[in-house]
Amino acid sequence: MSDNRKQRFLIDAMLGNIVSWLRILGYDSEYWDGDDGGLIQKAIKEGRIVLTKDRDLYVYAKRCGVEAILIDENGIEHILGKLNQIYGVSLEFNPEYTRCPICNHLLQKDKHSHREEWSCNNCGKRYWMGRHWRNITRILEEAKNIGR
Ligand SMILES: [Zn+2]
Repeated sequence: MSDNRKQRFLIDAMLGNIVSWLRILGYDSEYWDGDDGGLIQKAIKEGRIVLTKDRDLYVYAKRCGVEAILIDENGIEHILGKLNQIYGVSLEFNPEYTRCPICNHLLQKDKHSHREEWSCNNCGKRYWMGRHWRNITRILEEAKNIGR
């Protein structure tokens, strides 16, 4: 699968932290903590793949014709590795595609900054490759080894 980040995801509340990872990697991803019926409706309307740890919800989604994936892994690197294997989800950070981890809006690279820096036109948050960046890179490397 090519690196065009065309899949969109809808993530069940129990898997909250995967949302920001998928956004950083450039995938349009939303979080859902309402009722199952609403989740299915949103997935159908917006053409999103449902990620859940809940087997009943998974079966229900499939029955409604919604693309869904049951996550039984723990650990972000295992979940990302699985998404890479199944959907070809990119494990490479690409600044052209990256989205705001808070609000899912595409980020703008700040041309005037001397360091690598991005800002969100929607929520106003700014991001740069700080100390936490090494941790992100390490987890992506681990996910790549799992995905192989
Ligand atoms: Zn934002």
